[in-house]
Amino acid sequence: MRYGFVIDQNRCIGCHACTVACKQEHSVPVGSFRTWVKYIEKGEFPATSRHFGVMRCNHCDNAPCIEICPTVSLYRRPDGIVDFDSERCIGCKSCMQACPYDALYIDANTHTAAKCNYCAHRVELNLEPACVIVCPTQAIISGDLDDATSNISRIVATQKVSARKPHKGTEPKLFYVGIDGDLLEPTAPAHQDSHFWSDKQVGEDAYKFPDADVARAGPGASRVVYDVAHPAPWGWKIAAYLWTKSVGAGVLIVAAVFFALGIAPTGTLLGVASPILAMLFNAATAALLIFDLKRPDRFYYLLTKPNLSSWVVLGAYILIAYSGFSFLWLLNNVILGPPDYYIVYPTAALAIGSACYSAFLFAQAKGRDLWQSPIFLWHLFFQAVAAGASTLLIADALIGSDNAIAATLAKILLIAVTASLAATLGEISLSPHVREVQLAIALMTRGELRRPFWLGAVGSGLILPAILLMLAFAAVAPDTLNILAAVAALIGVWAFESVWVKAGQAVPLS
Ligand code: SF4
Repeated sequence: MRYGFVIDQNRCIGCHACTVACKQEHSVPVGSFRTWVKYIEKGEFPATSRHFGVMRCNHCDNAPCIEICPTVSLYRRPDGIVDFDSERCIGCKSCMQACPYDALYIDANTHTAAKCNYCAHRVELNLEPACVIVCPTQAIISGDLDDATSNISRIVATQKVSARKPHKGTEPKLFYVGIDGDLLEPTAPAHQDSHFWSDKQVGEDAYKFPDADVARAGPGASRVVYDVAHPAPWGWKIAAYLWTKSVGAGVLIVAAVFFALGIAPTGTLLGVASPILAMLFNAATAALLIFDLKRPDRFYYLLTKPNLSSWVVLGAYILIAYSGFSFLWLLNNVILGPPDYYIVYPTAALAIGSACYSAFLFAQAKGRDLWQSPIFLWHLFFQAVAAGASTLLIADALIGSDNAIAATLAKILLIAVTASLAATLGEISLSPHVREVQLAIALMTRGELRRPFWLGAVGSGLILPAILLMLAFAAVAPDTLNILAAVAALIGVWAFESVWVKAGQAVPLS
């Protein structure tokens, strides 16, 4: 059994009865929607046409929201309905990033994720979903797609149907009849400053894309005249988490490099300060993640109700294991002397895992095309090395500089910022021919995020440190230049994370 929907846009009159019935059936809070009707218009007055698209969860057979949900709050029922259990939800908002259709929202009353659940409670009583019952033109058809005799199966088999973003591989079970193509492609219609009968909500269309990238001018061009807001789920705390994680991972990756170079990881900097800094920044990373949860009181569900296919869970395990090995590094140094390979190499492996696992987490956020970049994993690694070397350079100066160690740290930092520059340029120039990626990159490089990107991430974070470090290599007293380079590199890592998180979420999904 596989329940699905057909929505016949030839019959839909855009009356919003489905939206209202759904809100009533599920007590959906003001400002949130499990189903809504998007309006676009084409042409110029008086030769205009209006087109409707009813949007909601697609009850995907290969649902990315289920894969990423860390606590199995989202799940697929045997009848094909993708349902949720708000009692397990921790409010991490990962599902909102994974869903390519903007189907999920955070319920303002429960602070947990919610979406269309096909009125599963009604289906169990052999009733149809509330939206189906209320639709005055019978434009919404529900039923079992596996039953060849059902009305829905007959329509899918005999009429021309389309689905939203089939290339995402989500295998959606919501099919449209007669929908305008621009309603299937969220980036196709132009976005205006207000809707035709209402102002836009705060957070709606937060960024404007450079004109040349957006324009699909001409007689067939469309514009959105009514839609609902979908503010970006992740904000500064996620950018800050990426930054603290880079520092926490980087300090012991760099300390392990010293070990590999034949320098024992002992003494105040490599034996004591490095593992303590790792633990402190790992703790800050965990705190940021917990404070970003809408239900921080449930953070321990990651351990007690885990979904082992979610990189939210796997990342938490890596962070915990890495923090444990950081403590062992410190303990070994205090009790037995310099940590040997059996401490250093597992710690370094976990530190690399801690730095890089976010690339897999962001890749599970299937809705965000920018974040699918295969270079991002390498970029996270180089950023962690740069952040670690920078932090150790500053720590080295604070606890009494060792010139030989500082010189090696400066060389590691120069290699890391050079590699990061290559990764950054690769990300903006080798992007696939995907319109959503190109829009996000245009926003970073030529749009509203261009200053933090060019001045912060590239200028301060990569080019300035490289120049300062090369000057330091030639200087008699390089300490000040090294410190300035370290501070600039740390600012740059923050700027990049902030821009990357914002740009990825700026492209509309629905
Ligand atoms: Fe619904 Fe989105 Fe999950 Fe697909 S990915 S089942 S559309 S919430």
